[in-house]
Amino acid sequence: MTGLAPRPFYVTTPIYYINAEPHIGHAYTTMLADAVARSRRLLGDEVFFLTGTDEHGQKVERAAQAAGEGTRQFADRVAASFRRMCGDLRISNDDFIRTTEPRHFRAVEEIWRRVEAAGDLYKGDYEGWYCTTCEVFVPETQRVNGRCPTCGGKVERLKEESYYFRLSKYRQPLLDFYAAHPGFLQPRIRLNEVRTFVEAGLQDLSVSRTSFRWGIPVPGDPAHVMYVWFDALTNYLTALGFGSGDPAADARVGRFWPAVTHLVGKEIIRQHAVYWPAFLMSAGLPPPARIVAHGWWLMGGAKMSKSVGNVARYQDYVRVFGVDALRYFVMREMPLGQDASFSEDGVLARYNADLANDLGNLVSRTMTMIGRYCNGVIPPGGREADDGLDAALAADVDRTVAAAVGAFERLETGVALQEIWALVRSVNQYIVRREPWGLAKDPDRRHLLECTLYQAADAVRVVAALVDPVMPEASARIRGMLGVGAPTWVGLAAGGLEAGGRLGPVEPLFPRIEGTVEDVRAMATDEAPQTPAAPPAPPAGTEAPPATGTLSIDEFMKVELRVAKVLGAERVPRSKKLLKLLVDTGADQRTIVAGIAEAYEPEQLVGRTIVVVANLKPAKLMGIESSGMVLAASEEGGLPALIGVEGTAPGARVR
Ligand SMILES: [Zn+2]
Repeated sequence: MTGLAPRPFYVTTPIYYINAEPHIGHAYTTMLADAVARSRRLLGDEVFFLTGTDEHGQKVERAAQAAGEGTRQFADRVAASFRRMCGDLRISNDDFIRTTEPRHFRAVEEIWRRVEAAGDLYKGDYEGWYCTTCEVFVPETQRVNGRCPTCGGKVERLKEESYYFRLSKYRQPLLDFYAAHPGFLQPRIRLNEVRTFVEAGLQDLSVSRTSFRWGIPVPGDPAHVMYVWFDALTNYLTALGFGSGDPAADARVGRFWPAVTHLVGKEIIRQHAVYWPAFLMSAGLPPPARIVAHGWWLMGGAKMSKSVGNVARYQDYVRVFGVDALRYFVMREMPLGQDASFSEDGVLARYNADLANDLGNLVSRTMTMIGRYCNGVIPPGGREADDGLDAALAADVDRTVAAAVGAFERLETGVALQEIWALVRSVNQYIVRREPWGLAKDPDRRHLLECTLYQAADAVRVVAALVDPVMPEASARIRGMLGVGAPTWVGLAAGGLEAGGRLGPVEPLFPRIEGTVEDVRAMATDEAPQTPAAPPAPPAGTEAPPATGTLSIDEFMKVELRVAKVLGAERVPRSKKLLKLLVDTGADQRTIVAGIAEAYEPEQLVGRTIVVVANLKPAKLMGIESSGMVLAASEEGGLPALIGVEGTAPGARVR
């Protein structure tokens, strides 16, 4: 590969809409794009990796108002949380774009002018259902019983003036483009769906609004701001320097466009595979080379969403498992283009089996034996045993490099990791069959011992290089232990480890996590399951008790203890300790999750009168919102016994 100029490779995440802070869905797309970017750098490509935030629109205006902040201040704050996510997840992006930046205004204005010059914009009326409470148009498909899905209020038919883009004109050019570029959209099945949609005929697209101000004004008609996709999609060109008028930037656009891979979630395929190529064709620019659409992360079988309340925070998983383990899990678990399940059990199982056991053991035993038998110096290699094991392992290493690199090029990180882990297991088996600890007892077999340890260490070096895009920190730590420098995939092959090098300090790579999923969850959320055995957290809005250990009456009275009647009880799936109770507190019926499943059968509890903390801040346990806590007594290590007040009506205060 030497002598060739590096290939330009441009990869993007969608820009993230800032009406809420980042969750695991955003984190996944960003981590995947990062692994792709890192893999291309290892191949020697010239990489440009872009992520950023989409900041305009009425929803942001509204969210800022709801937060009691100025729109700019709100945008700065939430955009910063996405930038922080990049740091938290070791994302190697080359740029972070915000659509509120002046450079983006220039780029979008330039695209607008080109599209207008092509005769593809005209003024018309946008008509739709409008919620006067939320001051927002509600798409026909989102109305609930004819009402606003957000506030439940009445919607009315309203018209406003809007610019339209002649999308209908691009039906045939798009179909021709798809036919000429069958790899344009992956997975392939998605391209078929898009083709069917386009074949059915395209409606012109409303691309401006007069009903809000937080956007990019239309050049020459500032009563209008550009609407959503016209603004957002152009970010991919802005970051290259499009519209800046700088010749160096123009050269950069020419180099990286259209050599781009847009990574997107499957919910925004139409915008990327239909609108965006049409805008670009109109502006005289080539459509992007490749769009790769991934599936959704499901929690408890449902798509993660804020309104369902099953959103996983990436920070919780990073805290317990570390960044690399989270990156490994998501890239191993989600087959490209399909949905996958996100669960603590899944992460814990992968962590212990794949990382602590398979990889961790391989690295640890190899380093330990080289330390013990070779004074920490990489022994000389040589494939001289006549059992064929050495040659077979070397061939396995080379085959794995080819397979894993190919899978990374297709963005199939799960396939790449399966290949790499098959090699990890092969090396572990090789060590077991050779039994270096036995060879070490026989000075005549010193040669074979050294050969075995060299081969194992060499394979570890290759594994470290191959996992680098997914687990950059673990890769660096393994290389630190092996005493080797930064990896490259150019010329990566068995036998490349230099003998005579000295090992660095040996440390555990992924210490096993003992404990149940509940323990892990408690660590992750900082919300200990509300078992009676645990000291109760102070209710929301109250101060912790004074250090003397005594409370004033006023402090105690802040804890609202009330008699409640159990109306229903059921086990929480996948939990040994938790029961989900429906209780009547006199004032309301509510759900409380209690850690009493080991002491009570659900059916024993129905009809029983108990005492609850009624003003505890709600907490999420196993995805269930728990509003309160039940009181129970327990001896050290014993089972909880519920406190009851028979003969008292629900709602009675306990004091
Ligand atoms: Zn509304």
